[in-house]
Amino acid sequence: MQIRGSIGKRRRGVKNVARIISNSADKQLLVVISAMGKTTDALERLTRAYFEGLDSVQEIFEDIKGYHYQILEELFPDKAHPAFDDISNTFVEIDWILEDEPFDFDYIYDQIVSIGELVSTRIVSHYLGYIGVNNQWVDARNYIQTDNTYREGKVDWNKTRHLAEAQLLPLLQQKVLITQGFIGSTSENFTTTLGREGSDYSAAIFASCLKANGVTIWKDVPGVLNADPKWFDHTELIQQLSYHDAIELAYYGATVIHPKTIKPLQNNNIPLYVRSFLTPDAEGTVIGHIDKPLPVPSFIFKVNQVLISILPKDYSFIIEENLSQIFDILHKYKVKVNTMLNSALSFSISVDHDEEKITKLIAALSVTYRVKYNKGMELVTIRYYNQQTIDRVTANKKVLLEVKSRHTCQMVMKDNIEAFE
Ligand code: ASP
Ligand code: MG
Repeated sequence: MQIRGSIGKRRRGVKNVARIISNSADKQLLVVISAMGKTTDALERLTRAYFEGLDSVQEIFEDIKGYHYQILEELFPDKAHPAFDDISNTFVEIDWILEDEPFDFDYIYDQIVSIGELVSTRIVSHYLGYIGVNNQWVDARNYIQTDNTYREGKVDWNKTRHLAEAQLLPLLQQKVLITQGFIGSTSENFTTTLGREGSDYSAAIFASCLKANGVTIWKDVPGVLNADPKWFDHTELIQQLSYHDAIELAYYGATVIHPKTIKPLQNNNIPLYVRSFLTPDAEGTVIGHIDKPLPVPSFIFKVNQVLISILPKDYSFIIEENLSQIFDILHKYKVKVNTMLNSALSFSISVDHDEEKITKLIAALSVTYRVKYNKGMELVTIRYYNQQTIDRVTANKKVLLEVKSRHTCQMVMKDNIEAFE
């Protein structure tokens, strides 16, 4: 199974994390940790298998447990260390769920998937104690209060701020606090999650409620780069980034920062540092109130796009009424528009290719409109573009849609030309 591949890396991961924390243990420090390796993906698979009644349920669960026990064994030579019992008791919560009949997917998802963060934080907290760092494991669910929108919990800022201020501030003076990213709790004490990759957002919530001096996100990249190294051989590190540019980059799909992370920090003027745990002494990127535009153009690639053109059946103009109806349909099927362009006779959008959603969306739009679509497209966004950067990404491509604002250019394109279906 995939998550096994990274065990060695993860063990080193725990040791790296511990080194970074112990180097800063003299400061007031709240550490927000997400699940290890590909655990969240595996727990998602487990939840789906349980819902679909598949035989693979136990096998997936055993793999997840095995992955964590192997890490524990490498960290704690003494098999009687309390960490072993603690982790096994945490996993028992999943056993209890699996014994019952499945109901309400989103609710069960949060109860199962949150276990990834509960075990990773317990492991790190035990390991820190083992190497002599005075720390306390803190249950984020006692602080991050949300509504009951499972899988996408909306934070109740007043309650969260009140609880964090009253209880965490005094504790922070005494020891390092270790808590979970990504998870929260409803007022009835049910676990919620804040949306995939939500740990950065958790850190921003805690930071804003506790009026932190700064937030540092430790990644396996040296900081914010001007493109994902997956697409370009040569990328450049952006040393300073304004909140505004960071929000724009996250919005267009730069995966290094979760889109919701910046706002709470910007509102409280808290700088965000993005650094690499592989090179912990390097400075990385700082995001803050910076008056300069990006020093280099930045590129964001999204593949597997569908370009959809929506046209009134009778060749009438696209007017506000059509647009509002189209957006109602998009909202109904939870399809996020990555870019859009309006002309007299058609409205075009580029969206992620999620087969199930797109099929339903096209069927719904087709009731009123003529719908043309083209799959297998790429969407490239260039922030601070110029002609040279456009030429660079469009070489050997056919551009089907181009949207430019003063600082941002978005292009939907494809390798070779294909007629609309
Ligand atoms: N573990 C969660 C996820 O993978 C949250 C995070 O990593 O930020 O989505
Ligand atoms: Mg994760």
